[in-house]
Amino acid sequence: DKKTTSNGTDPRAIRQWDNEHFFHPWDSMGVAGMDRVIAHEAKGIYLYDPQGRRYIDGPGGMWNVQIGYGREEMAQAIARQAMSLSYHSPWAFASEPSAVLAKKLADMAPGDLNSVFFTTGGSSAVDSALRFAQFYNNLRGKSQKKLFIAREKGYHGSTYLSATVSGKERDKSFLDTEKRLVRFLPNVNPYVRPEGMSVEDWCDLKVQDLETAIVEAGPENVAAFIAEPILASGGVIVPPPGYHRRTLEVCRRHDVLYISDEVVTAFGRLGHWFASEPVFDIVPDIVTCAKGLTSGYLPLGACIISDRLIDEVSGPDRESVLFSNGYTYSGHPVCCAAALKNIEIMERENLLEHVRQVTPKFQARLKAQSRFEIVGDARGMGLVGCVECHVPEGRGRSEADRLELDKDIGARIDAKCEEMGLIVRPLINMCVFSPPLIITEDEIDEMFDILERAIARVEAEVL
Ligand code: PLP
Repeated sequence: DKKTTSNGTDPRAIRQWDNEHFFHPWDSMGVAGMDRVIAHEAKGIYLYDPQGRRYIDGPGGMWNVQIGYGREEMAQAIARQAMSLSYHSPWAFASEPSAVLAKKLADMAPGDLNSVFFTTGGSSAVDSALRFAQFYNNLRGKSQKKLFIAREKGYHGSTYLSATVSGKERDKSFLDTEKRLVRFLPNVNPYVRPEGMSVEDWCDLKVQDLETAIVEAGPENVAAFIAEPILASGGVIVPPPGYHRRTLEVCRRHDVLYISDEVVTAFGRLGHWFASEPVFDIVPDIVTCAKGLTSGYLPLGACIISDRLIDEVSGPDRESVLFSNGYTYSGHPVCCAAALKNIEIMERENLLEHVRQVTPKFQARLKAQSRFEIVGDARGMGLVGCVECHVPEGRGRSEADRLELDKDIGARIDAKCEEMGLIVRPLINMCVFSPPLIITEDEIDEMFDILERAIARVEAEVL
């Protein structure tokens, strides 16, 4: 247990310093340290701790490690770029990696989305997309048109503006957002539709929610609708069929921009570079992406804007109009070189095709989890899925205890999976699976075999 890491640090010191000094995302303000598993090395779909214990990475990092860990080619591409040109100002210079990547993304993105604005990650991509929507309306002389419509359970990031359009209520318990800028639509999850209602009727209702919100706010006041094709961290919520196309039509009718937040769904998660057009039949006005763009080797994001919007607000008389938004690291050459190598690997290894091939197995094993009494719903698409667990109602436990029980169930499953070599890290009671896209059918079986054993044991404990 005392083995030191390759850098010579005692794992106990790592845990102590992490507990005492690393203020993590979504950290608890309780006094006890979280004693997180120490990620020490990683290869393929596996993470290893300093003692050499191996874990399948179920969430695939943060839904971003598409090509898997430990690719030497990635390290070499990153090193080469760092040696030849480690940085340049994106204000003053162009460079090969960012120009080639911009062209590549424009070719991959749906329809006429051809202007690529590079950012440092997903939050800054969403932030830039929202700011562009307001900028666009200012330049069209519609400076009233500033509101955003977003959805309950949506997640779009952690900057002030991207958090403002995020709809996970509990995340806002102790943090402020700009409430006047946003209207939220109720949950789109077909799982929560009233008993007896068809999915088609549910879709009608959800499309109507958007139209009603726009009309109530006044279309002259609404800039954009922002939506993840699948609400990822809200619990892998797949809206009903036809929802995307019909909500886009509503937006068009009211001159409201449609921003498709593909931070999770792009780069192969659903078997395509971008999911909006091939999977959901929409060409949005702006698409945001990050995560799988570099498979997590380095941070990078982008928002990609349609020619229609750019053309509408540019012209010979607009020389002095600046989109005064951007980052020191916009189009960072080393990050762009990593993205290019990541895309090259995905192309060479036919990873999009691979995802389409292993998806039926992944989805079948995922959905089979609903046979457990403590599993309320198992849902997903492509290589992403969620197993939502609950203590069944009517077992003499009060509704007030439900959140605590749900949390407890998630924590128990997590602990059992960890013992057996699978990282789950549930969102409360929701176990999310978004493994590296290179996962094989045998590895999918291995992952769900562990999960099933863990759920069976927890079920025996809590029922
Ligand atoms: N948008 C979506 C759909 C996301 O899932 C996330 C992160 O999970 C973000 C935006 C924010 O991305 P980042 O954490 O890279 O800032």
